[in-house]
Amino acid sequence: RQMVEAISKGEISKEQMLKRRMLGEPLQYILGEWEFYGIPMLVGPGVLIPRADTEIAVEKAIELLKGKNAPRVLDVCAGSGCIGIAIARTINADVSFLEKSDEAIQYLEKNLELNEVCGKVYKADALKQPPMTENFDLIISNPPYIKTADLGSLQKEVQFEPKMALDGGEDGLIFYREIAKNYKPLINYGGSLVFEIGFDEADEVSKILENEGFKDVKAIRDYGGNMRVVIGTVK
Ligand code: GLN
Repeated sequence: RQMVEAISKGEISKEQMLKRRMLGEPLQYILGEWEFYGIPMLVGPGVLIPRADTEIAVEKAIELLKGKNAPRVLDVCAGSGCIGIAIARTINADVSFLEKSDEAIQYLEKNLELNEVCGKVYKADALKQPPMTENFDLIISNPPYIKTADLGSLQKEVQFEPKMALDGGEDGLIFYREIAKNYKPLINYGGSLVFEIGFDEADEVSKILENEGFKDVKAIRDYGGNMRVVIGTVK
């Protein structure tokens, strides 16, 4: 939609777009919009592009919330807002968002408006103490989870994406440790924490949740067959 508008207004030529793509820039940034969970999301430099791999985390969250009346959800490291917005568009949930990057928050706010979702946006660092005091039925997060040393070997397109959204520290697990510890007190009894994980992080992230006292910890594969989600419940 944005691209078509830009071309028709003469703001951007097809030649310019082709040149950007040939330099390795992700198609999604050039188009300015990408679909996630059947919902349009505005994207561009400065925000992580929503991935189809993440849809399984949304599906599991919706499954866990089934039967709850207007559940309260928090999307931590929300980026474009794709996870929380997909949940809010699918079920009657009250979704809040936490994000540190000013650039990402600009996209997040535009995506809330585009999809007519009302949600509170907290600008905060997920590695620090939570800025809110209210409780949630479900906290979901696709935090940065790539090991710092591996960032340089990611494919060319991913190099265009913000390092802040990818860098999970030396072992890739820093956000899982901090979020599990700091946000568990905000989860209602019977509520869950849902993490997207890297394909080789299921055992370590499961251990982190168990150490923090989460129950029924389990790992789930995505449709590509990779371990993609770890869930823990508070009870
Ligand atoms: N899935 C992303 C990738 O493979 C990583 C996203 C993240 O770190 N949360 O590039």
